[in-house]
Amino acid sequence: MECIFCQIVAGKIPSQTLYQDEGVIAFRDINPQAPVHVLIIPKSHIPSLAQLTESTTIANMVDVANRLAKEEGILEAGYRLVINCGREGGQAVPHLHMHLLGGRRMSDTLG
Ligand code: 5GP
Ligand code: ZN
Repeated sequence: MECIFCQIVAGKIPSQTLYQDEGVIAFRDINPQAPVHVLIIPKSHIPSLAQLTESTTIANMVDVANRLAKEEGILEAGYRLVINCGREGGQAVPHLHMHLLGGRRMSDTLG
């Protein structure tokens, strides 16, 4: 198993896990781009958004993001959810993940 995020799911690489259930795990990004930077991923290996065949996975990930935004104290001030997809989308880790970013004013540009 070479996928970094699958190894995090399996507990073979340590992470600061904030939440997990049967299908989803959320942990702090190792190289945070904002005061709050959490990654929310499906436990099963889906390489990217382009390989997603059903949207309940994303819906569950959004539910977790909103719950963590509340726990991290950024629900009212606001936050940003980002999914990079593929090479030109800027995806570095080939296991579907959603970034939860907050705790500062986000850039006005999206890319
Ligand atoms: P991408 O550019 O693929 O959308 O985002 C990948 C993210 O994964 C980056 O923000 C990077 O810092 C994070 N990351 C990469 N390897 C690890 C790791 O081993 N542990 C954690 N917690 N985050 C990682
Ligand atoms: Zn994986």
